Amino acid sequence: MSADLKPTFDKIFSKIDELKPEFIDMLAKAIAIPAVSSDESLRPKVVEKAHFLADHLKKLGFQDIQLKELGTQPPPVQDPNLQLPPIVLARYGNDPAKKTLLVYGHYDVQPAQLEDGWDSEPFELVVDEKKQLMRGRGSTDDTGPLTGWLHVVQAHQAAGVELPVNLVTCFEGMEESGSLGLDVLITEQKDKYFKGVDAVCISDNYWLGTRKPVLTYGLRGCNYYQITIEGPGADLHSGIFGGIIAEPMIDLVQVLSTLVDSQGNILIKGIEEMVAKETEKEQALYKDIDFSVEELNAASGSETALYQKKEDILKHRWRYPSLSVHGVEGAFYGQGAKTVIPAKVVGKFSIRTVPDIDSGKLDKLVIDHCNEAFKKLNSPNKCKAELIHDGAYWVSDPFNAQFQAAAKATKDVYGVEPDFTREGGSIPITLTFEEQLKTSVLLLPMGRGDDGAHSINEKLDISNFVNGMKTMAAYLHYYGQSPEK
Ligand SMILES: [Zn+2]
Repeated sequence: MSADLKPTFDKIFSKIDELKPEFIDMLAKAIAIPAVSSDESLRPKVVEKAHFLADHLKKLGFQDIQLKELGTQPPPVQDPNLQLPPIVLARYGNDPAKKTLLVYGHYDVQPAQLEDGWDSEPFELVVDEKKQLMRGRGSTDDTGPLTGWLHVVQAHQAAGVELPVNLVTCFEGMEESGSLGLDVLITEQKDKYFKGVDAVCISDNYWLGTRKPVLTYGLRGCNYYQITIEGPGADLHSGIFGGIIAEPMIDLVQVLSTLVDSQGNILIKGIEEMVAKETEKEQALYKDIDFSVEELNAASGSETALYQKKEDILKHRWRYPSLSVHGVEGAFYGQGAKTVIPAKVVGKFSIRTVPDIDSGKLDKLVIDHCNEAFKKLNSPNKCKAELIHDGAYWVSDPFNAQFQAAAKATKDVYGVEPDFTREGGSIPITLTFEEQLKTSVLLLPMGRGDDGAHSINEKLDISNFVNGMKTMAAYLHYYGQSPEK
């Protein structure tokens, strides 16, 4: 711990310990509002939670609190007048001598019902003293981390310590439903509300495992494609038409089989060449990461791993592209032995993208490959390959000021160097912040890999909650002190 910050940290950390019951109580109140963004009937609850947070921000002395309306939700919706929940903007401090940090979090949650198999009512926070954890929908994703930032401010006030940076909040209520409206808001506000923001911190992901804290510096992107093959005017009977017409499903299976092999190798030419080469600095980051093939097997509930070595698994999850085949629309998929020949089938697959894959170039390679493969079949059917949606990858510099500040903070709180991780999935908003605000973004997770963010019995360990807040607090000080932006 840096000597000049030690007295400050001692004061703040002991306040966080002291105020723990109050913080848990506040989390319980927030979680009691079932802010499920995907359920139209619960939309008023999502809005209620925005107001609940705004009230709390006001109590803490945040200023310029604005609930930014985003208009009506685009279709498909049942209620054409359904309003999107607001984005909660607020500021704490406006000192030009200090850096300004934007903290992002989301207050909406995934759906949850007791009947899904929860051990207790999902919207009643249960503190399990024996296991030292808190169970409830939103505890880890993302109400716990979001309220954590507010508690950090409160702990500073209680300890009589000035906040070392100016804070700007951006709390959204549609994250679990595609972050509708957020991109537009960030673009609109980049020179207004978000003017002067030096860096962005997102606490909305998890440790890789359950023991070691991590800082996350990269996410893969995702380009999603479909191949439509059609021929006959209607679904046909194989007893009458089998063997005498060209079947779309047979063509589709053959085209799909040319995309990837059973070892996970992508067979489309030209993709591998676009993947960034590993640097020595990057190579070194994998060595100490706390992970093993056993953890992968536990997570997949099987022994189907394609790689046994830790480094190989992590690299193929984080820094190499992958191609997955997801399903076939229009095919017979039920039980039994239906003898149908589907007239039109749509195969769906996606590619997880990484640096330096050029998204437009990738689309062309993929679509050309599908057309070529189909052409080789000499089929009279029609084939169309297309992109459905894409989201770019993101990689930051784990050695920049923000990451180094967070690494020092983690070391002070947990007594270990954090693992520098990436994730195989996407948080598209990360890139929007980085590009629009021209800042660096840090992903600073609070919860553990086994928190069950989108499943039943979502939890946050009390130690992660408390130490997560301490890490956030220490990070603010180290970042505030650092000479770089
Ligand atoms: Zn989340």
